[in-house]
Amino acid sequence: MTDFSKHKFGTKAIHAGADPDPSTGAIMTPIFQTSTYVQESPGTNKGYGYARGKNPTREALQKNIAALENGKHCVCFSSGMGATDAVMKMLRPGDEVITGDDLYGGSYRMFTKIYENFGIKFHFINLTNAENIKKYINANTKLIWVETPTNPTMQIIDIAACSSIAKANNLLLAVDNTFASPYLQNPLALGADIVMHSVTKYLGGHSDVVMGALVMNDDKLHELIYFILNSCGANPGPMDCFLVMRGIKTLHLRMERHCYNGRKVAEYLKTHPKIEKIYWPGFTDHPNHEIAKKQMRDFGGMISIVLKGASLESTFKTASSFKVFSLAESLGGVESLINHPATMTHASIPKTERDKAGVVENLLRLSVGVEDVEDLIEDLKQALG
Ligand SMILES: *Cc1c(COP(=O)(O)O)cnc(C)c1O
Repeated sequence: MTDFSKHKFGTKAIHAGADPDPSTGAIMTPIFQTSTYVQESPGTNKGYGYARGKNPTREALQKNIAALENGKHCVCFSSGMGATDAVMKMLRPGDEVITGDDLYGGSYRMFTKIYENFGIKFHFINLTNAENIKKYINANTKLIWVETPTNPTMQIIDIAACSSIAKANNLLLAVDNTFASPYLQNPLALGADIVMHSVTKYLGGHSDVVMGALVMNDDKLHELIYFILNSCGANPGPMDCFLVMRGIKTLHLRMERHCYNGRKVAEYLKTHPKIEKIYWPGFTDHPNHEIAKKQMRDFGGMISIVLKGASLESTFKTASSFKVFSLAESLGGVESLINHPATMTHASIPKTERDKAGVVENLLRLSVGVEDVEDLIEDLKQALG
């Protein structure tokens, strides 16, 4: 296996973990569509026993994603929530988690509706000032769970600041890096212990796979996470692993265009008379712009807008009148999407909590794709007009 750890991002995206197949020379990683492996004699095998535990296509992808995050280990899961679930399964009843008040709706739902039942306590707090974390730390605190940029109000959380508090208090720091992708942000380098990805989004990039991943440096942590994967069974299939490897080969190209288009669209919307508020960390007047500049390579294609004085009905009307943007949940694919968080991605969060977090009924979230930006701006013009 060639070591690509010293190469640059695009080279790693294409080559890391993707050595030609030794048995045939096939340049693309084969899809090992098998559930089991023949043994020479009981217990003697070629390192593969049963495919919940190990699959060569999955291993190639895991090496690839680990390289993109400059991490030692990666474990892939059947979804982003499957990956998050594995982190939570490391906890015990009585343990406490400190996390943000502007989280992916599905994470909030898992924490409050599943893990609170198992006696785990969550503190949903404003993390834009990392110092806030200190007020909630006690002897039971085990984990800090950070998402940045946040969804959908695009707050930026200072990962390095969270990490120094985590380290001083012997806590694990996990970062949901889905919105940034490994191209824009590498939390391990900023002191995080675990990076989580909904691979479904930018890594897959083509809206055709649901998958998750965890990346970490620590061998013991990796051993435990892999044990949870193999014990609980949220493993991804080989065909999906192949599709994601194929998607990742253009991650750096897609991200450059997402960022370029994102900037153009954000600049167009900033002065639009129908827009009351716009959330995009690339603006110098974004409250956390300096931290974004410090920890991200660029500012991405995720933008949220609040429509000026719009009722729920007229917000729906706007959301339904796009021709190039598609009204759908999810993000990070090549095609541009528009989403109404209050009734779609964040519907599982109670209205009072949503309003507190700024996820109001006239807020729309854009995932700016990699189409020609002139067509995207034309589409926004007609839909808002
Ligand atoms: C989509 C998403 C998830 C969940 O991932 P799935 O692959 O849909 O299970 C978690 N966090 C963020 C930020 C997401 O956008």
